[in-house]
Amino acid sequence: MSPFLLFALLCCDQQRPNILFIMSDDHAYHAISSYGSTVNKTPQIDRLAREGVRLDRCMVTNSICTPSRAAILTGQYSHINGVPAFNRLDPARQTVAKLLQQSGYHTGMIGKWHLGSDPAGFSSWRILPGQGLYHNPVFYNATEATKHTGYCTDLITEFAIDFIDKRPADKPFFLMCHHKAPHRNWQPRADKAAKWKNIEVPLPATFDDDYSTRSDAAREATMRVERDLTPTDVKEKPPEGLTPRQLKIWNYQRYMQDYLACVESVDDSVGRLLDHLDAKGLAKNTLVIYTSDQGFYLGDHGWYDKRFMYEESLRTPFLARWPDHIPAGTTNSSMVLNIDYAPTFLAAANQPVPADMQGRNALNVLGGKAPSDWRTSMYYRYYDYPGAHKVQPHHGVRTATHKLIHFPKIGQWELYDLQADPRELKNVVAEASQSATVAKLKAELTRLKAEAKDDDRFADKLPPGGVDGPMKPGPRTAR
Ligand code: CA
Repeated sequence: MSPFLLFALLCCDQQRPNILFIMSDDHAYHAISSYGSTVNKTPQIDRLAREGVRLDRCMVTNSICTPSRAAILTGQYSHINGVPAFNRLDPARQTVAKLLQQSGYHTGMIGKWHLGSDPAGFSSWRILPGQGLYHNPVFYNATEATKHTGYCTDLITEFAIDFIDKRPADKPFFLMCHHKAPHRNWQPRADKAAKWKNIEVPLPATFDDDYSTRSDAAREATMRVERDLTPTDVKEKPPEGLTPRQLKIWNYQRYMQDYLACVESVDDSVGRLLDHLDAKGLAKNTLVIYTSDQGFYLGDHGWYDKRFMYEESLRTPFLARWPDHIPAGTTNSSMVLNIDYAPTFLAAANQPVPADMQGRNALNVLGGKAPSDWRTSMYYRYYDYPGAHKVQPHHGVRTATHKLIHFPKIGQWELYDLQADPRELKNVVAEASQSATVAKLKAELTRLKAEAKDDDRFADKLPPGGVDGPMKPGPRTAR
């Protein structure tokens, strides 16, 4: 290589941004104060909203942990990337990490991976086996598994800081920092648990949804706060003599107190990472993202968990800060999908976006200048049935004003008018006045399905599971 070319490449790499991608697991946007939370405060995550952009229609294409992670890495829908449910990501697949690494980035993966194969495309990685543990967790890399003393969220933060500090000076970094928290069964650090133990959390507006106009899928699902939380979830015996209504509220309080206590540790972690970027002089040239792998029901519709295409789990928080590129304190409601993250990071790194990535570069959206041909509808598809919560497989389309959902195995449809009924309490699919809207949305669903190249390959049979199996250090390419 000529000295001139080497100099040019080094200069280029000094200009290319670092990318710090912080993702939690099951953190609902409505448990973030800059998204208007009524249940908690997140002062550190709010720094990103104040100094960057908050996306109000960031949505996932399949609202469940492992498929969302695969979609984020590959920029592809589940039926293309081969991960529709809890099955393994083929490590031979193209990912944003591999492409960034090949382009000269120092790449890292810390925390919850949950894709059943070893991380590929990372210069260094240290991950939890399967779901991992909240307290004194084991982490492993390619050569060793080590049990650590401490709280998982704090340990992931420390490992992320260590990665940043040990990076090569001549390369930009791409770090995926993936928290386990606040995933079920919501085990907070002791001081946070004690703080939240006696806090009364306000009930959500749709807590008493009776599902009266919904399809049978809502009644079949086993994720109800009143009935389906286990002793492991609530961690103590309810008081004697509660009425069913009182027990539902008691369950909700136990669930939410621990959930929000876990979130508080995640918020602290974001603050530590942002402080570290400041201390190292890296804040200006680092694109920082905070997101979750999907949303979550915080007692909304009487539920916990995710999966259904309703807003609370379809939408996910997404805050991004990149000084000089993203105007501070902005919000926007362009539809950004989790399959857009990979193309966006590649574009930020001055890399081409491969044609087989189905998402789009959203850098202009983040900058407040969405292209004129930006999407105005999105395609969603969920598969995992019966899974842990008996949520019927479904697919659907969301536009700025409506949502149409099809549950093919029970032959039922739902339509919500998001302007008249933003809480999605009234399914109007059978109303005569909606027939033209239904026809239009069915056509749009067909169009989007074809555009996404969805050939129903996983409609009747899912690939074998295996992302929660026992882990041991060393290559596991046969898994
Ligand atoms: Ca998740």
